[in-house]
Formats: sequence, C-alpha cells, structure tokens
Amino acid sequence: MAQSHAAVISPEALDDLVEALRARGYRVLGPTIRDGAIVYDELESADDLPTGWTDRQEAGTYRLERRDDRARFGYAVGPHSWKRYLFPPRVRLWRASRGDGGAPVVEEEPLDETPLAFLGVRSCELHAIEIQDRVFVGGAHVDRDYAARRDGAFLVAANCYEPGGTCFCTSMGTGPKAEAGYDLALTELLDGEHRLLVEAGSERGAELLAELPASEATAADHAAAAAAVESAAGRMGRTMEAGDLRDLLAANLEHPRWDDVAERCLTCGNCTLVCPTCFCTAVEDETDLTGGEAGRFRVWDTCFSVDYSYIHGGAIRPTGRSRYRQWMTHKLGTWHDQFGSSGCVGCGRCITWCPVGIDITEEVAAIRATGEVEHGHA
Ligand code: SF4
Ligand code: SF4
Repeated sequence: MAQSHAAVISPEALDDLVEALRARGYRVLGPTIRDGAIVYDELESADDLPTGWTDRQEAGTYRLERRDDRARFGYAVGPHSWKRYLFPPRVRLWRASRGDGGAPVVEEEPLDETPLAFLGVRSCELHAIEIQDRVFVGGAHVDRDYAARRDGAFLVAANCYEPGGTCFCTSMGTGPKAEAGYDLALTELLDGEHRLLVEAGSERGAELLAELPASEATAADHAAAAAAVESAAGRMGRTMEAGDLRDLLAANLEHPRWDDVAERCLTCGNCTLVCPTCFCTAVEDETDLTGGEAGRFRVWDTCFSVDYSYIHGGAIRPTGRSRYRQWMTHKLGTWHDQFGSSGCVGCGRCITWCPVGIDITEEVAAIRATGEVEHGHA
C-alpha cells in the first residue's frame, strides 16, 4: 500500500476509530482489563483500552503493571486470542424439539453474521488467523460457522513495540511488524508527542482512515515507527531455532526428553486452549429434563485429554508422554505436512499460561542439544 494511505492520529482519535467502526455496524472487539489480565472483549469506546498498563510474562507467570505513560498498546498478548470470536469455545450446531404429534423437528442453528472488527491485532495473531483460515475454510470442507464469522471481519493491527518475556515471533517469521492481512495497522509512537501512525492495508481501511481526524504522516513518523518495531525485534523474550523442526522432531520420537517433560506436565490442556491456532473440538449433546428439547454443541477440546484419542476399545495416547509429544510434534512438525506451515506463531501464550512453566522453546532446545540429527522424511 502506498505511503499516501498513511496518516498520524492522536491517541484520543482512537475513539473516533471505534465510533466509525460501530457506525458501520461492526461489533468492535479489543483489549481491555478484566480479572487481572488484558483480555479481548467488546469495546464501547477507546476508554475501555488498557491505557497505561503493561504485562510482565515469564514461564508460568503473568501480571499487570502500571506504565509511566499513557500507552494504549504497551503490552504483548494475554490469555485470549481472536479465535474465541472466530471459533468460539462453545457453539450450538442444531436443536431438536417435538413438533405436532410428538415427531422430532431438527433445526440447524442460524449463523451469527454480525460483522466483527478486531482492534489491536498483533502480527503473530494475524498469522494465527491466516493459519486457522487454512484449517477451517481453506480445504475441501468449509466450516460454515467460522466462515460466517470471518467473512468481512475488519482487522486493525497494532505493531508491537513492547514484546513479552515469552514472545518469539522473530524466530517464527511472524512479527513483530504486521505485513499483510489487515485493513489498518497502527504503530503507537511514544517518543516526542504521543501519536499513532496509521497505515491502510485495504481500500475499506483507507476509506475509514480518511474519516478520522488525522494529519499527514511525515518521513520522521515512518522512521520512528520502523525504529520502534526494530527495537521490539531485538528484545524478544525467547528464541527458537525453527527451520528444521519437522525433521528434527520426526527423528527424535523416542528421545528421553519426552519422559522428562511428562513428569512435569499436568496434561491440563491450558496450552492448547490459549494457543491461537489449536482447533480440536468435541461434540456434546444435551436434552432438557422434560425430554422436549435437545441440542448438539461443538466445544473446544484438547489433545491432552485421554478421551480425545479414544477410539473403539481405548485411548491411543494413554500417557502424558504420548499426549505432550503428540501436541508438540503436530504443532511444530506434521502441521507442515497438513497445512503447509508451522502451527506455531511464537506468541508465547503456552509458556506463560502453563501452570508448571513448561516452555516449548526450552523443550525444543533440549531435544536439539542431545537428539538424533534430523535425517529428513518423506
Ligand atoms: S504443557 Fe503445561 S499447559 Fe500444557 S498440558 Fe502440560 S501442564 Fe498443562
Ligand atoms: S504453540 Fe505456544 S507459542 Fe506457539 S502459537 Fe501456540 S501458544 Fe503461541
């Protein structure tokens, strides 16, 4: 997109941005503080943003801290990801009731087609959405619920200048600067006058930008934005050597490190629930007490549960070792075969929200340090 589709706005003009999106009929979702964390929820106005807050993250640790400025996007990512809106934790698939004469009548759940606008999407999250697009709508079988929510969603990216202690997007080639897949991209600039560089990535983004109270972006604004993102790239909390992981992991399926991690892993599944790309589900059927109505729901599941691999006669991954290995080798290895990329975007959530602090970058490094050298596989 040409530089002419860029402008500078004041932090106060974020309110105009939220208002302009709401006026277009979008349900505007973005970062806000709740329960001691920065989560994603509906924004009534830009006042709901986590102004002046940041997050401190380490393996198994997350806490909010006050900043000494009024930054709106001075944090990394929290426990939520946008998948909770595109691929909600629980959706009804159909309901059944008794019609005339008691015969069952089955009705497919109507699609929720309220247009969604996401404000503050990090670069790693844009990549995660792109990955879930491939999973849900990129193949022969299109998920109608995901497609309805994703279709027309308006994405406002926020470039990172404050990476978290568990982030490693630079290792995965997914950040910290948003390169594509957004309608507008914000870079908050805190040097000198507090302002945001706004760049349009689509025609509708440019149209909306033209409505905001803005001034022309100067070469100095662009240079400041580039410097902020470059500085973030140099301050990632974690790194992971990732290029050869598919083959490295395939060559080390019997590595003793799987036993080691299994002794620490609680198989709680937190890592899969917070991961912006994990997509396993189960179905649950419910009936009311009178037997008059029934429904089927799709709910998030996790490969860390024994039941997830239950097939006729028993579970095929009965141990924590086999379940952790399944998760990691799929995410970093066989995902390439299935979907043409890694399943990891380096957001660090699985590290932060693991109750015992298991760190995927550390597990990979341990296998790399002492494992079989990769030998390639067909
Ligand atoms: S790695 Fe951590 S978050 Fe994931 S299942 Fe094990 S204990 Fe839970
Ligand atoms: S595996 Fe962990 S670091 Fe990678 S995308 Fe999922 S939650 Fe983020």
